[in-house]
Amino acid sequence: MTDAVTTDGAQPIIRMEAVNKWYGEFQVLTGIDLSVRTGERIVICGPSGSGKSTLIRCINRLETVQQGRIVVDGIDLTAGGKNVDAVRAEVGMVFQQFNLFPHLTILENCTLAPMRSRGMNQAQAEEVAMKYLTRVRIPEQAKKYPSQLSGGQQQRVAIARALCMTPKIMLFDEPTSALDPEMVKEVLDTMIGLAEDGMTMLCVTHEMGFARQVADRVIFMAEGKIVEQAPPAEFFGNPQNDKTRQFLGQIL
Ligand code: ADP
Ligand code: MG
Repeated sequence: MTDAVTTDGAQPIIRMEAVNKWYGEFQVLTGIDLSVRTGERIVICGPSGSGKSTLIRCINRLETVQQGRIVVDGIDLTAGGKNVDAVRAEVGMVFQQFNLFPHLTILENCTLAPMRSRGMNQAQAEEVAMKYLTRVRIPEQAKKYPSQLSGGQQQRVAIARALCMTPKIMLFDEPTSALDPEMVKEVLDTMIGLAEDGMTMLCVTHEMGFARQVADRVIFMAEGKIVEQAPPAEFFGNPQNDKTRQFLGQIL
């Protein structure tokens, strides 16, 4: 085996090697190499259209790639189609637009996947759901429908719903971008709590305060490439690449 070994000697839980992806003629990812250790917290930033969403969507196989290798917790996503269910059960994802089922209650949103794909009965699934709704501090909303909740509450439900599958990895794609400013903090606080509990997390976000506080590593993407990556103090204090400096100049 020639598996890359990280500095602490553990196998990476996510490994992307020489990944290239095209949408038609357009190359969206170019030469992506990325290893993530268990428990590592990564923030991905970069200009709109740089391939951030595409990159993280490859990790739960919402997107496929034409070249390269992606291995998630030992599951080779580039070895054929049959590993999709296995990886989806291990990788939770939270989107900008919450993506809750509008016709289901908060509780039903949370129990659906565990009952369908974890084989839980309703009582078990509801117990798990209430545990995570309590953890995101909205157990009292369980019987309501998504439209009756604020954006911040809906996003916390989306996080709880993902956690009900007890994922090993959580992916966040700009989870606070669609929120009114006063609701950003409650969602970031929930994510900080997850980070403190040791969850392996990849977060696409431009919340640089969050990046400074919780990221082990900040990755900057431009034009489908990882241009720069470093721990936050280094990344913000001494960015090496012109594109990174330009980007930070615009958002900070
Ligand atoms: P980011 O999340 O950094 O804004 P994306 O990964 O969403 O970037 O998109 C990167 C580029 O790929 C953009 O130029 C976008 O228009 C293009 N793209 C994204 N999804 C598709 C698709 N399904 N088909 C064609 N082009 C796409
Ligand atoms: Mg995006």
